[in-house]
Amino acid sequence: MRKKIIAGNWKMYKTIEEAIHFFEEIRGNIYESDKVEALICPPTLYVAPLLAGTLDIPVKIGAQTMHYENEGAFTGEVSPAMLKSIQVPYVIIGHSERREYYNETDETVNKKVQAAFDHGITPIICVGESLETREANDTESFVNDQVAKAFENVTAEQAKEAVIAYEPIWAIGTGKTATADDANTVCGAIRSKMAELYNDDVAQAVRIQYGGSVKPGNIEELLEKEHIDGALVGGASLDPVSFLQLVEAGA
Ligand code: 13P
Repeated sequence: MRKKIIAGNWKMYKTIEEAIHFFEEIRGNIYESDKVEALICPPTLYVAPLLAGTLDIPVKIGAQTMHYENEGAFTGEVSPAMLKSIQVPYVIIGHSERREYYNETDETVNKKVQAAFDHGITPIICVGESLETREANDTESFVNDQVAKAFENVTAEQAKEAVIAYEPIWAIGTGKTATADDANTVCGAIRSKMAELYNDDVAQAVRIQYGGSVKPGNIEELLEKEHIDGALVGGASLDPVSFLQLVEAGA
């Protein structure tokens, strides 16, 4: 049984007061079960204080991105060694917004994935097609290619621990969700790709999330699907009540 993972990607939203308020609202109210893991990835600035301030809440705190080098003259960046030094358990890698606005490529995504594993940080590796690719019926080959590149030089032992987030770009922040069946088909194709790249053991262990306009109203039918092991949620993770409902749906 794969443990479901419900992750909130806060992107560049919330002041520290708003972030603290969010956790005050969920403290004592969050569904705790061994079937679901809850994670919030706030802006990097808040990762350390929120890690320290939420020890009594069954929610993990992750990062939204990182560099692949451990140190150097990279103004504004945060390194895997730094995240490791404050015990960050998860890092989102290769979000489509990072690929689009910050020139991340399959190559840098792969370097970051390797760096995360080297530091014992679990990467949440984002893949997903544009509307153009979907309309050309190239979704599965495009996404599988992103997966293959992300996992270059990653061992089977490491790959087993990975989280892959399938986020069709056209569904992010648009209110358009892939149908549960369509999302499951692509997540299933990703699982088959992992079996081809590694073996069945890895394919069965790896957790695959769906992301793109996930809300309390549509998460249940997504999570019922065989290959969908959780959700990576943007907008709907900003509101404590809706985040609590999303986590409960995963339990
Ligand atoms: P929305 O849930 O706002 O569509 O964002 C999805 C996303 O990009 C999560 O990483």
